Amino acid sequence: MNFVVLTLFPLMFPAFAGHGVVRRAVEQGLIEIDCVNIRDFAEGKHLITDDRPYGGGNGMVLKPEPLAKAIRAAKEVHPKSRVVFLGPRGRLFDQHTAARLAGNETVVLVCGRYEGIDERIAATLIDEEVSIGDYILSGGEPAAMVVMDAVARLIPGVLGNENSAGQESFTDQLLEHSHFTRPPVFEGQEVPEILLSGDHAKIDQWRTRASLLYTLANRPDLLENREFSKDEITILSKWGRQIADIIRTQGLHGPDALSGDR
Ligand code: SAM
Repeated sequence: MNFVVLTLFPLMFPAFAGHGVVRRAVEQGLIEIDCVNIRDFAEGKHLITDDRPYGGGNGMVLKPEPLAKAIRAAKEVHPKSRVVFLGPRGRLFDQHTAARLAGNETVVLVCGRYEGIDERIAATLIDEEVSIGDYILSGGEPAAMVVMDAVARLIPGVLGNENSAGQESFTDQLLEHSHFTRPPVFEGQEVPEILLSGDHAKIDQWRTRASLLYTLANRPDLLENREFSKDEITILSKWGRQIADIIRTQGLHGPDALSGDR
């Protein structure tokens, strides 16, 4: 799979592409990362890439001409490409989007700077806008790295163990269970005994409980409309009974009392 990154700061990328999983994927020829300087498509003595916004206001806007040329040049080399603009107004990037993008032969990642890009580029040359979160970055480059990293992991062969991606958080609408490694006791904290037992059925049960507990505590939204397995329903029902017991013995008035709705 090819990534073409259109950026004003191509030198931000060699360190990203030169380490860990991404580096191995590049070395194995499973992904290619081509960073193109948008300024190479600017004209005039000063190769200017930004200009003041029409209507006034703070900041500058990326000029349309160099960006249009850079995108068209990328599409000429890679006719079957999906052009993605990294921007805070885009749809929130998640594991589903990563999997969808991994199905493309080439993804062109357009990194904005200043106040962003001219809307006419967005309207004509961009296939989709993707945001990596509800906050403002100074440029699209860190977002492009996030997208490439998440997508690369889903390309067959990139992760040594083919199963690793299938068990991670967000697969199957659950966060992953906790992990432990040696030593068995660290600063007085012991590894849960079950994980040392060698009993794989019990270890699986423990991991399912840990996974459900983390998801309930931190991302209950992931569980909405999820289909639960029989084992998961058993665990949740038991917790439900335990919570009901606490509510009863404390003299509380059920979930409404806790939510502050009463
Ligand atoms: N004025 C823009 C706004 O309020 O929507 C923010 C511009 S930001 C300072 C400059 C560039 O950083 C954007 O054009 C975009 O490429 C990138 N960027 C900022 N936040 C981002 C986010 N959450 N996800 C992806 N890209 C982002």
